[in-house]
Amino acid sequence: MAAGVRRAACKNSFWAIDHTGTARDGLAPIRQMRNVLILGAGPAGSVAAIAALAESVPVSILEKSRHRRHKVCGEFISPEACGILAELGVWEQFLRLEPTRIRDCVLHFGRLTKKWTLPECGYGLSRYELDGLLLERAVALGATVSNQVVPNNSFGNHFPADAPGAAGKTAIVLATGRRAAAAPGKRLFGFKAHFEGPAADAVELFFFSGGYVGVSCVERGITNVCGIAPESALHACGFRLDEFVLRSEALAERLRPLSRKFKWLTVGPLVYSRTVRTWVDPITYPAGDALGFVDPFTGSGILNALLTGWLSGSAAAQGLSSQGCVARCGALLGKPYWTSALFRGLLDVGCAQHLAALIPGSWLFRLTRVGRLATYSSCV
Ligand SMILES: Cc1cc2nc3c(=O)[nH]c(=O)nc-3n(C[C@H](O)[C@H](O)[C@H](O)COP(=O)(O)OP(=O)(O)OC[C@H]3O[C@@H](n4cnc5c(N)ncnc54)[C@H](O)[C@@H]3O)c2cc1C
Repeated sequence: MAAGVRRAACKNSFWAIDHTGTARDGLAPIRQMRNVLILGAGPAGSVAAIAALAESVPVSILEKSRHRRHKVCGEFISPEACGILAELGVWEQFLRLEPTRIRDCVLHFGRLTKKWTLPECGYGLSRYELDGLLLERAVALGATVSNQVVPNNSFGNHFPADAPGAAGKTAIVLATGRRAAAAPGKRLFGFKAHFEGPAADAVELFFFSGGYVGVSCVERGITNVCGIAPESALHACGFRLDEFVLRSEALAERLRPLSRKFKWLTVGPLVYSRTVRTWVDPITYPAGDALGFVDPFTGSGILNALLTGWLSGSAAAQGLSSQGCVARCGALLGKPYWTSALFRGLLDVGCAQHLAALIPGSWLFRLTRVGRLATYSSCV
């Protein structure tokens, strides 16, 4: 089965790493790994598990949450992710979950609106379903999952000394998501709820001072409303999110025919990264948000988690240099990080709408996507 995944992943793979592990790109094997321990069962962790299993290396996953759960996320799945889901062998199951096809993108800056059609359609699927789908795939291929909270050490890496098989030739994929520390008062928080009502096939972003709210559909016509706002703005309305989202006229208009399906979930503090982390110890392979947290307005965090999860899981299983793997992830994600930092800076000074007015929507979209996927075709 694992060999099947590897074959499938390598056949058309524009995103897999060089399985020959040659020295020319700094990813030569440095040790033989007997097993891979994955910390965190989000998209990055599950895909890392599938990648390591494709190298015929046993995989254990440690996940702190016992049950599948809804996560604070815009749940927009970037078009490039579809090919990856197919290569992971879950495309048919993904479609059976009835994700919404998302064709258009609309940005709202007060009364100014910018709309364009996406180069290829993206999808909306709840994280409840997506994370479950990917983890089930990893388990079906042979990964074992245990419920365990892995303690942080002072370097921000995790060393589960008492984890099964943690000693010796075990490579660790760090896929525990964002790490955040921010001073009270200046913090950002994320929030999300699902709504019922008329469905639409656009992802809409409503920008306001210091934050934004995204509205788009997920499976079975449910609408996801998810945003990020400064603590001070949320505090001003007593953290009553129903009230908060009605402060923008355009957003209030958009939400009028909808009714909330479950209580608001919140998360934070959220701290954006300007680049991916650069330092790791030799047996730790960070992936997904554990590498860095890109501004969610790009709608590319899940895509990045799938890509870096694969790179890290594959490199960990082969005992390739973790520094080399991180450098490769950094090269891949440089463009979206840079573009989102620039756009966020413009948002902070109230100028983002001018940039948006000048640049075609398709460019804005492309600038926030991973760069040079074609260079990752070395195993074809
Ligand atoms: C407000 C908001 C909106 C977003 N909208 C979008 C969007 O529309 N589209 C998009 O592509 N991306 C979006 N993102 C980004 C996306 O959610 C992340 O990039 C993605 O979840 C990263 O996946 P991951 O596997 O790295 O981390 P996670 O999904 O966070 O998974 C990490 C896992 O590790 C587990 N874990 C954590 N600590 C431990 C521990 N100590 N021990 C054991 N297990 C642990 C957690 O329980 C979790 O299951 C958004 C993010 C936010 C905050």
